[in-house]
Amino acid sequence: TARLLQKSEKLAIVGQLAAGIAHEIRNPLTSLKGFIQLSRMQDEHKQEYFDIMLTELDRINLIVSELLGLSKPIDVLYKEQDLKPLLQDVVALINSQAVMENVLISVAFEPDIPTVFCEENQLKQVFINLLKNAIEAMPAGGDIKVDMKHKGGKVALYVLDEGIGIPEDRMPKLGEPFYTTKEKGTGLGLMTCCKIIENHGGELNIFSKVGEGTTVEIVLPTQKNPAVDMPGTAIMI
Ligand code: ADP
Ligand code: MG
Repeated sequence: TARLLQKSEKLAIVGQLAAGIAHEIRNPLTSLKGFIQLSRMQDEHKQEYFDIMLTELDRINLIVSELLGLSKPIDVLYKEQDLKPLLQDVVALINSQAVMENVLISVAFEPDIPTVFCEENQLKQVFINLLKNAIEAMPAGGDIKVDMKHKGGKVALYVLDEGIGIPEDRMPKLGEPFYTTKEKGTGLGLMTCCKIIENHGGELNIFSKVGEGTTVEIVLPTQKNPAVDMPGTAIMI
C-alpha cells in the first residue's frame, strides 16, 4: 500500500509551475511541427530526419499535455455530480482502445450512491489515466473492474486490474514526477491523479501484488469541504 497524498502536496507548487511552462511551450511546438512538415514535403532526401524530428516533437507534445493536466482549467466548474454517468462516459471513451488490447471493462455500482461535489473534466482525467495504466499492465489482455461503493459516509471508487502488479519496493516511487517503468511512459499520470484527488479533498491509495494485479482506490467526500481550497477561488495559469 502507498498513501500518495503527502507526496502530491509537496508537488503542488512544482505542479503549477510545470503546468505554466507547459502552456507556454505548446504554441511554439505547433509552429515548429508545421514548418517541419512543410520542409519534409520539399526535401525528399532527408525524409527520415524529418520523421525523427516529428516523432520527437510528438513525444514533447505528449509530455506537455500531461503536465497541462495538472493545471486548474480556466473554466473550472465544481458542482454536485452523479458519478455514474461520469464513469460510464469515461469507460465508453476508452473502450475501443481496451477492446484492441483484449481487455474487457466491467462496471458495478452499489445502489444509492450520493452525489459528489467535483470538477467533472478533472475527475474524468483521473479515470482515463487509471484505466490506461490498467490496460497497459495487461499486455496479454484481461479484465478490468470499475466499482463504486459506500465507505463510511464517503464514496469509494475502485479500478481493479489483473495485470503485472507493482513490486513492494517500487510503491514509494509511485506518483513521483517522471517515474515510469514503460518505454514510452511519461511518469506523469499518477502524479496528476493525486493532485486532482487532493484538490477534491479525497484520497488515493494503491494496493498491488506482483503477478496478481493492482487496485487503485479513490475515496471522495460527498460534500464540499470548507478546509480544502476548491479551485474556482484562484486561477493558476
Ligand atoms: P506512465 O503510465 O506514463 O508510466 P504513471 O504515472 O501513470 O506513468 O505510472 C507510473 C508507473 O506506475 C508506471 O510506469 C508503472 O510502473 C506503475 N503503474 C501504474 N499503474 C499501474 C498498474 N495498474 N499496474 C502496474 N503498474 C502500474
Ligand atoms: Mg500512465
